[in-house]
Amino acid sequence: MVGQPKHLSDLARIEADVRITCRQCGFEEDWQRDAFARHLFALGASQVWSEITRALRCRRFGCGSTNLRAAAVPFARRAANMPRRVGRLDAHLLDTAMKVLEQAVHTSRGRAVATLELRLALLVVYRYSHDRDGVRHFWQRASAADRTVDDGLVEPLRSIRHHLVQAGWLAPAILVDVPRTWPWNSPPPPGWLVAEEES
Ligand SMILES: [Zn+2]
Repeated sequence: MVGQPKHLSDLARIEADVRITCRQCGFEEDWQRDAFARHLFALGASQVWSEITRALRCRRFGCGSTNLRAAAVPFARRAANMPRRVGRLDAHLLDTAMKVLEQAVHTSRGRAVATLELRLALLVVYRYSHDRDGVRHFWQRASAADRTVDDGLVEPLRSIRHHLVQAGWLAPAILVDVPRTWPWNSPPPPGWLVAEEES
């Protein structure tokens, strides 16, 4: 196809997906065309290509910018905002390591959880994030049995996850779109649902 599409339905012919990129923070998200059409319909938003991002905002947690760009990408379909291609083994390793850490956090109340298993998980994390302080911090707290609630493992785990997200190894948390309902009788602006009529 030459040039920009005119309407979202134009993408059906070339079987392209839609990639939404945030101009503010670079967050990228790929949508299947029909899923994106349903999403826009639920928001009451236009499917005309030039105004396709008007009702949307960046879904990266903590950004929420409305300055977005849409592009038609044939057969794109990546997980949201994976800035680098992560190999399957890397993804599995990190996924498993994070699960071990999460389990340690769950069972850590009032006892030491510094097991060999946990050490292996932390070594895996270190292999990817090179976050020496974060890993050491987690290990030290995991080794202490007399922890109070305040120095639990939740905060070190958050820091480790943050580093992995920053380095592109994990996909970041995503804001869930909650369509707002327009409370007045006037036509709702883009991004708002029509209020249900009272019977
Ligand atoms: Zn953003």
